[in-house]
Amino acid sequence: MKTLLKNGISFDPQTYQVKPIHILIEDDEIINVSETQMEKLLTDEVVYDLKGNLVIPGLLDCHTHLSQSFGRGIYDNLHLTQWLVTMSNKFNLTEEESYQATLLGCVEALKSGTTTVAEMASAGPHLDACIQAIADSGLRADVCTAIGDYQEGENPPPDMTTDQVLDVMRNMHKHWHGMYDGRITVRVSPVGLPACTEELIRGSRDLANELGIGIHTHCSEGETETQDAYTRFGCSEVEALEKFGLLGPDCQLVHDIWLTEHDKQLIAEYDCSVVTCPSTNTKITDGMPPMPDLYKMGVNIAIGCDGEASSGTYDMLQEARLVSLLGKVHTMEADVFPAETVYKMMTVNGRKSIGFDARVGEIKPGFKADLTIIQYPAPHLIDERRLMSNLIFSATGTDVLSVFVDGKPLMWQRELLHLDEQKIMADILQTMRNADHLLI
Ligand SMILES: [Zn+2]
Repeated sequence: MKTLLKNGISFDPQTYQVKPIHILIEDDEIINVSETQMEKLLTDEVVYDLKGNLVIPGLLDCHTHLSQSFGRGIYDNLHLTQWLVTMSNKFNLTEEESYQATLLGCVEALKSGTTTVAEMASAGPHLDACIQAIADSGLRADVCTAIGDYQEGENPPPDMTTDQVLDVMRNMHKHWHGMYDGRITVRVSPVGLPACTEELIRGSRDLANELGIGIHTHCSEGETETQDAYTRFGCSEVEALEKFGLLGPDCQLVHDIWLTEHDKQLIAEYDCSVVTCPSTNTKITDGMPPMPDLYKMGVNIAIGCDGEASSGTYDMLQEARLVSLLGKVHTMEADVFPAETVYKMMTVNGRKSIGFDARVGEIKPGFKADLTIIQYPAPHLIDERRLMSNLIFSATGTDVLSVFVDGKPLMWQRELLHLDEQKIMADILQTMRNADHLLI
C-alpha cells in the first residue's frame, strides 16, 4: 500500500532551514522525498494533506520506565537514594495495573511526538503485560527489564540468583525479539552496577554477544551509589564495567553523572552511547550531568525521559530543551548545545544508540516511515528562518498534531486512531482511585 504525505515543510538536514516536503511511503518505508509536488500515482494511494505543518522524524526516547506513569506526583520530593528505597517498597503494581500504567505512558509519549522508546520495564513478574501494552500502543520499542542480583543500599534484597536473572533476559529475547514485524526488539539489561554482581555483568556481556543484541544499563547516577563501587571493587563504576567486559559500541549507559576524567575517557574510548535524562537528574537531585564534557570528547549522546515517578514527563521536546539549558549553565558557555545539537540527540543520535539497522531518526528513502507532525504556524512557532530554535526552546509535546509509525497514522489531528483514548482514560482513572497502596 502506498501513502502520500503532501504539502508539509521540514528541516534541511545540512542547513536546518525549512523547505517544502512531500513524502511517499510504501507499506512501512519511505520510498521518495521531494520538495516538489508528487503526482498521485495510484487510485488506491492514501493521501494526507499536511497543509504546511512541520514534519520531523519520529522522536526517539532512549530511556523509559513507562509503567511508572502511575507513580507520577507521589514521590516528588525524595532524593534519589530515598526514592530508590521507596520505589522498591511501595511501587508494586498488579498485572492489570502494569498493563494500564504502561499503556498510559505510551499514550502520553505518542501524543508528544515519540515514535520509539528504549523501555527498561520495571514490572517484575508482570514484564509481559508491560511489553504487550507497548506493542498494543503501536510504538516502536527496544525493551529490556530492570533486573539485578545484588542488594543495592537499603533496598530489599533481590529474590533471584545470577543465573535466574540471565534466564529472564534470555526468555524475554526468545518471546519478544522481532515481534510485531520487528517493531519490538530486546536488549540485555543488568539494571546498574550498584544492584549487580560481577558475575551478572560478565554474564550479561556474554549473553549480549551470544544473541547479537545490545546492552542497556544505569550508570553513575547517584553520588552515594557510585561511591559504593570503590568499596566493592576498588575502582569507579565505569572502571568496573570496563574490567568486567561490559563496555562497547553496543552499550547504552544511562545518566552518567558522577564520572571521573578517566571514566569519561573510557566511555569515549569504547564508543559507548550515553543517554541523559535531565528531568530526573534535577527533580530527584541526582546531580549535574556532565554532558558537555562527553560531547566535546565525541561521545554519542541520546536523550531519555526516564520514568514518570522521577521525571514527571514523557515529553521529549521538554527534555531536549532542558539538556541544552543544563549544558549552558553547567559550563557557563552560552553556545553549548544549540538547538540543532539537541535536535540530533533525539533523532539521529538516538538511532545510533539503539541500532535498529540505522533506519529511523531521518526522513529519507529506505528509512522507516516513523514521522511526527508539528502544528505550524503557532504563536510561538512563526518565524520560519528560526524554526529549529523555536521548536527546541519554545515548543512542547502539545504542539504535536499527528504521528506515523511504520507508515501507519497512529494519531491524526490529535486523535488516536487505533486506540479508544476516552475509554482508556476512564478505566485508568477508576484504577488509580483505588491504587492507595502506591501512596507514601
Ligand atoms: Zn531509569
